[in-house]
Amino acid sequence: MLKHYTIPIFIPELACPFQCVFCNQVKISGQQNIPQQDEIINTIESYLATFKIAEKVVELGFFGGSFTGLPIEEQRRYLKIVESYIISGEIQGIRLSTRPDYINAEILNMLSEHHVTTIELGAQSFDDDVLKQSRRGHNAEQIEHASAAILKNGFNLGLQMMIGLPGDTLEKSIFTAKKIISSESQCARIYPAVVIKDTLMHQWYNMGKYKPLSLEIAVEWTKQILPLFETAGVKVIRVGLHPSEGLVSGEELVDGPFHPSFKELVITEIWKDLLAPLLNNDINGNIEICVPQNELKYAIGYSSSNKKMLLKKFNSVKFVADASVPNRSFKIR
Ligand code: SF4
Repeated sequence: MLKHYTIPIFIPELACPFQCVFCNQVKISGQQNIPQQDEIINTIESYLATFKIAEKVVELGFFGGSFTGLPIEEQRRYLKIVESYIISGEIQGIRLSTRPDYINAEILNMLSEHHVTTIELGAQSFDDDVLKQSRRGHNAEQIEHASAAILKNGFNLGLQMMIGLPGDTLEKSIFTAKKIISSESQCARIYPAVVIKDTLMHQWYNMGKYKPLSLEIAVEWTKQILPLFETAGVKVIRVGLHPSEGLVSGEELVDGPFHPSFKELVITEIWKDLLAPLLNNDINGNIEICVPQNELKYAIGYSSSNKKMLLKKFNSVKFVADASVPNRSFKIR
């Protein structure tokens, strides 16, 4: 099976003209410096040296800001750094993230000429009121137009959504997920909104105007959203904010549902719902539960929580990886 690798290059957008209420872009990208050519090459070389599997697809990702908001010459300069690796076959494509209103025909042409394969848009929400309250500076229609243009020009499309922004509700988040699916996005990221130091949301939080979702509620919402994508065949490539150093150490995080194992918490809850009926059936004593290999840790649960739940009824609970069990299901032995 092909192994997918991404080499991340963070380019903070220091001069972004927008002020999304949740964003302190310098802090969220975990660094303040714009990486220079030699730093980017060093990063690429050191990542490539760690990719041992022969059957692989390697992409370079420009993340951290709105790539296509940079002056077009600067975009070309960054993309050209990667070109020799594309020609040598060491890197197969480039992905980048940007804003929906930073997409136009000229930009798409240029990106296409420079081996960009995937464009991810920070959609955040398809609800215009949430977008307005979050001061995104674009509306849902612009996300739809940009998404269609990206696909029409032969790129892969990715859409990122945030849950718990000002004005957001579970229904609006589910609506956003459904719009991402109907936009025919190939991949998605789900981020719970958190309060980061020195953002507008931080000010509102201090004034009592904004309250982030609790971790429990964020997990509950995501538990309902993630299966929508999975059922529709949209690959969810990130669930939860990337644990950049500043956030993990708590220096920049003021409040909100940040957890380094957020995805594990969510899928643990999905499994909890699947396994809970076992507490009410007639099986007693010892139980062996066969699950797919890639679901084993989620079935057992974060901190073995699902196993502990079942141990309240059974004398012993054993989870076993079984290749014959279809995804997100189990059988009892
Ligand atoms: S999230 Fe908003 S404020 Fe932050 S870099 Fe992107 S567009 Fe600019």
